[in-house]
Amino acid sequence: MDMALVARRPGGPEVMEWSAVETAAPGPGEALVRHTAIGVNFIDVYHRSGLYPWPEGRMIPGAEAAGVVEAVGPGVDTVRPGDRVAYVLKFGAYRTRRVVPADRLVRLPDAIPDTVAASVMLKGLTAQYLVTSSYAVQPGDTVLVHAAAGGVGLLLGQWLRAIGARAIGTAGGPAKVALALQHGYSDVIDYTATDFAPEVARLTRGALCAAVYDSVGRDTWRGSLACLKRFGMFVNFGQSSGMIEDFKLSDLARGSLSANRPMLFDYVDAREDLERRAADLFARLERGEVRADVVATRPLSEAAEAHAALEGRRTTGTTVLIP
Ligand code: NDP
Repeated sequence: MDMALVARRPGGPEVMEWSAVETAAPGPGEALVRHTAIGVNFIDVYHRSGLYPWPEGRMIPGAEAAGVVEAVGPGVDTVRPGDRVAYVLKFGAYRTRRVVPADRLVRLPDAIPDTVAASVMLKGLTAQYLVTSSYAVQPGDTVLVHAAAGGVGLLLGQWLRAIGARAIGTAGGPAKVALALQHGYSDVIDYTATDFAPEVARLTRGALCAAVYDSVGRDTWRGSLACLKRFGMFVNFGQSSGMIEDFKLSDLARGSLSANRPMLFDYVDAREDLERRAADLFARLERGEVRADVVATRPLSEAAEAHAALEGRRTTGTTVLIP
């Protein structure tokens, strides 16, 4: 019997119940995967809480996982039983085994352990599209990243350094500041103690930033816009502090700024995009340019505790659930 964290209504971490679930045999184009590691992401919180739309009926959160193919359905020739694989899908990963569309699976290089794969499929592919597509970062650019000690934040800092950009980060508290400084950031501002926008102006001697990657939202967006130089790009890719509600297009008039609000799933929907972006991510991991080296593990059954810690700003790097 397979086990899963099942939510039957939107709510706090406690709505996820450790439950027995049926797993069907894979149909045409599908593969059955036995999970070995499952990533925890803020998007799981948005889904569980009801901030993002729910599927019909019950919901199993979880958007990234690694595992081993146990069986494939008719017509599948991209993966075989025994292959080590990983995937990113909107929800459904907090379970021991799962049937997924085979064209969503990428095979894992030997050098990438399952816990690393399960902590970078969503967060690392996000870092990849943010720096290549939301704003194509150039060597010499100065870029601001909020929540720099978080899961996406630690990957982004290293990636930006590898491109040759100057990454300035923000983080909540001295321990997080110190951690982010070890992951590619040239400067990290404790934005719980210091007003970050004047500090960015000081650090850049008034030159400001080509782009801001803002996943905090409500508490930071105004300051983020103030950190952009002429023609700068405001990338809002999340809202860990709450939704941005009173943004007006005319807020972009100072300096002819641009803004976008991207979602990973659009950038990996086409199979060739998934493969191309995953190949870039895996190559950077294998070269050591980007390390997923701050990974806390917990038993899958403790997903509720993992959510409470993430929402309570008590985590750094990533958390991986082990079935
Ligand atoms: P993080 O590990 O970054 O955790 C969120 C962090 O946000 C916290 O650790 C905290 O860091 C900061 N934060 C600031 N204010 C608050 C608050 N009021 N409550 C809680 N946290 C707060 O999470 P992830 O790496 O999983 O995700 C980072 C962000 O990226 C999320 O907003 C997520 O939704 C977004 N995302 C978006 C994607 C997309 O394609 N659009 C894809 C993947 C992720 P500190 O204490 O340092 O402030």
